[in-house]
Amino acid sequence: MQIFEDIASLKQELKTSSYSRTLGFVPTMGALHQGHISLIEASKKNNDLTICSIFINPTQFNNPEDLKKYPRTLEKDISMLIEAGCDYLFLPSDEELYGQNDLLIKINFGYLENIMEGKYRPGHFNGVGLVVSKLFNIVRPDKAYFGQKDLQQFSIIKHLVDELNFGIDLNCMPVIRESDGLAMSSRNINLNETARKKATAFYNALNKASKMLKDGMGIEQVKSDITGLFNNQEEANLEYFEIVNAHSLLPLKDYKKNDRTALCIAGYVGGIRLIDNVII
Ligand code: AMP
Repeated sequence: MQIFEDIASLKQELKTSSYSRTLGFVPTMGALHQGHISLIEASKKNNDLTICSIFINPTQFNNPEDLKKYPRTLEKDISMLIEAGCDYLFLPSDEELYGQNDLLIKINFGYLENIMEGKYRPGHFNGVGLVVSKLFNIVRPDKAYFGQKDLQQFSIIKHLVDELNFGIDLNCMPVIRESDGLAMSSRNINLNETARKKATAFYNALNKASKMLKDGMGIEQVKSDITGLFNNQEEANLEYFEIVNAHSLLPLKDYKKNDRTALCIAGYVGGIRLIDNVII
């Protein structure tokens, strides 16, 4: 695997190597786990070449403490990518990607800014939109791979690519989970032993809610029962639980078996923010 830290030499390499070959791209923030590797595998299966980026993007963190304690495991990440057969790793510094000055451009994703992750993490999607645009313009991949784990992130990137004609084929891949159901996440490393045990509460709640909906319970009742599970809980604090159209991500009033419905949840366990979703 070739590693590039600067934009110019990466572009030079890709110009020759990806000429008449398809290039698949997996953007990440590192602290890689099997969820990330599943994206590398999907890219390898469907492209001649695969490039991964690791960049902890400061502009998408609305909380400086969160940025500071974001896990960093570069040596292990590199071994995992080599093992997975990744061709290139792009590893830019903050300066390389953003330069010295703050960006003038801001990206507003309309109603998607005001719901779920957008509502609880002001400015987050602007940062995601900016960094993904930069990375797409540098790498110019044919296809890019993202996880359903960050469903709303996938949705804003889909809007970005469609509305601004990036011409990249986007792929949303399934959530990879630990054996007890916890969605794999880089942040899981920061869970202490007690919090790790408690962290399955969100996925368990999603499964419970899916069953309630399928059994015919109304959406408002399901929402209030699920929210109630977290009342007065010391270890797991719910931020939101929403039942939405899996495409638009807008809240639903009724559950219809034939429509794709997403159940989305976010909250804190032992001080660590976790998100998860299932689509039924
Ligand atoms: P991150 O490093 O957290 O920014 O994630 C990089 C990519 O990996 C994003 O597209 C995520 O949605 C995806 N991802 C993170 N966790 C998982 C998971 N458990 N299963 C599948 N994809 C994931």
